Formats: sequence, C-alpha cells, structure tokens
Amino acid sequence: MDPIAPMLEAVLQEVREDTSGAVADYIPQLAAAPPDRLAFAVVGPRGHVFSVGDDEVAFTIQSVSKPFVLALALERLGRDAVFARVGVEPSGEPFNAISLEAGTGRPANPMVNAGAIATSGLAAEGSAAERSSTLRDTLSRFAGRSLSIDEEVYLGESETGHRNRALAHLLRSHGIIDGDVTTVVETYFRQCSILVTVRDLSVMAATLAFGGVNPVTGERVVREAVARDVVSVMASCGMYDYSGEWMLRVGMPAKSGVSGDLMAIAPSQFGVATFSPRLDRHGNSVRGIRVLERLSEEFGMHVFEPHESIAEPGIRIERTDGGVIVHLGGELAFSGAARVVGVLRDLTGADSESDVLVDASALARAHPAALSVLRAQLETEGGRLHFTQ
Ligand code: GLN
Repeated sequence: MDPIAPMLEAVLQEVREDTSGAVADYIPQLAAAPPDRLAFAVVGPRGHVFSVGDDEVAFTIQSVSKPFVLALALERLGRDAVFARVGVEPSGEPFNAISLEAGTGRPANPMVNAGAIATSGLAAEGSAAERSSTLRDTLSRFAGRSLSIDEEVYLGESETGHRNRALAHLLRSHGIIDGDVTTVVETYFRQCSILVTVRDLSVMAATLAFGGVNPVTGERVVREAVARDVVSVMASCGMYDYSGEWMLRVGMPAKSGVSGDLMAIAPSQFGVATFSPRLDRHGNSVRGIRVLERLSEEFGMHVFEPHESIAEPGIRIERTDGGVIVHLGGELAFSGAARVVGVLRDLTGADSESDVLVDASALARAHPAALSVLRAQLETEGGRLHFTQ
C-alpha cells in the first residue's frame, strides 16, 4: 500500500476538529462555502500527486493567483521593469491596505492587493478579455490542465470591489498602472475567480518548487530565475502580516487566499496545497496553517533546516587498470566542490603514477562555480587529472 496518503490523512485528522475562524463573507459566493471542507495535496519531484480529503472540490484561487501573475510579468518584462513599479518589502499590513510608498505610489509588494493589481497591469496586454485569457493560459500551464473562471464569483468581485477599484485609481494617478483602470482591475477580479482544486494548486506550487518546470507535464513554464524571484517574494510577503511568524514556525515560502486556499513550497522537494475555508484575522486559512505546521515539523520541510547533501556530494572511487575514476553523484555545489578537491589531492598525492578521471556525468545538478573549482584543480594538477561531464 502507498505509505504517503495515510500519513497525509493522519495530519488532516489532527486538525479536523478545529472550527475556529470565519469564512470570508464580502461576497455571497464565498460566504456560501461549506466551512467544514478540508483538503490537502502534495506533489514531489516525480510529479505524482498525493491528495486527501475534499480533493475534488473546486474553489476560486483568489490571492494564490498573485505569485503566478507576478511570474508572468517577470517573464514578460524582466525583473528591473517589474520591481520599478512594485516593491518587494513586507508591508506588515492587511492584504487590502493602501500601502503605497510616499511620493512614488509604489505598492509595498506584489502579494498585497495594491501590488497584485499593479502586477496584473504589467502581466498582459489588450482588452480585459484578452488579458484575462493570457493570465488563465499561464495559470493553466502551471496547473498542467485547462482552468476555467467562476463567472458568479467574478461578478461578485466586480460588484463589490470598490476598495480594489480605489486602489487601482490611486495606482493610475501615480503612473504605476497605465491605460484604462477598469481593464486592469477587471483582469484582476477575473484572475481571482479562476477555479482550481487542491490538486491543481499543489502542482502549481510544485512548478515553482522545481525551478519553473511542471513536474507532471514536464513543461518549462517560466525561467528558473523567474521562479526563484517569485518564491523569494512569497517567502517574505506571502502570508501578509503573518509572514514573519510563518517563516519562523513553518519555514516554507507560501501564499494564501480568502477562499481558504493555501500553497507552500519546499524548494526542490515538494509543492503543497491545502483548502479549508475558515480564516483567521489575517485572512489566512486556520486549518491550512495547522496542516503546514505539522508537515514542516514532521517531514522536515523548513527551508532553513540543514541540508548536508549539498556540502557532501556523492563520491565513489573506482580503481581500474588504467587509473582511478572518481564518480560524482547528487548535487555539486560550491561547498561540495571543496570536498571533491580534497579527495583529488589525496589521490594524486598518494598515487603519483596513475591518472585520475573525474566522472561528473551522473551529477543531478552542478553549480557553475563548483565546476570552475574543479577545472581550476585540473589545471594545477596538469595532465594527470581528466574530466568528463
Ligand atoms: N478577491 C480578493 C480581493 O481582492 C482576494 C484577496 C485575497 O485572497 N486575500 O479582495
């Protein structure tokens, strides 16, 4: 039997009894969400989705769309152009605060509404319908399937979204968004109304966790540098004015939304998503937070936990008639390269006759700086040290 699902189920059972918090009620469509719904999904590097609870239930993505729209803006315009118009500092304020920099009108970060509306304005071109279809296509590639929009929720957002409209007009007055304000803000409402399941969200999170490559479809959705930028912003700003405590307790870059969804990332390991509609005073899902706290503690997913394998790459020494072969495996980082150099020095010093071949062909990943260290060592050793990659 698959050992993972029962472990996830056990985490769900632990938090199921907690009925604290309240469902978002600013639009009837969200207020009507059955509050007891609870779902949890995890995707690893092989792209297998493990999910438990109400994993087939669709809900609107809401603010969890923000990192993906940021990714699209970064892919399209580059880092400098995007961050000239929206900052990357935690605001320490609620998600809908009017946190604009004095003078410039630059929103604090792309994870609060003001910054997200600015980012939506940068992510696509054309009419609201064209922009919304570009955004929906991008989110669909992150999810690995074609996503649709909940038109009822969209209408609810649009009818009640006076504060977001006010924010958009302020952004327009500062030149942070260009052109027609209504086009931008309607695009934002539509992006919030995209329907996903917890399984979709876990795949979307995993695509960021694996450097922009969707582990289910194998498609590269955004550049690695873009994925890294997005995950960095999630780490400092993704949980609004709870972001600092979240980093301390859970230690996974994350993003929450008012429908009660939450996604989190263990870089190079997992994409995780939860769904439970009752929210705390910050607008984050109460049981979603508890699930992620358990996951981080029990499964060792805090990003600042030590990862020895990076400093200790796999090294296997094979002695053949023609000389010595040093097989490298796993990940070779700058710190690990120093260790490999130590091993090579011992070999060439002890056995001054035979040739040494460094076989790097089985490395899962090698940082360019680590390879430079190895090449430099080859040069100092002269002709006796060889290298295959
Ligand atoms: N649609 C919501 C809003 O703009 C999204 C906010 C959220 O999920 N925190 O108010």
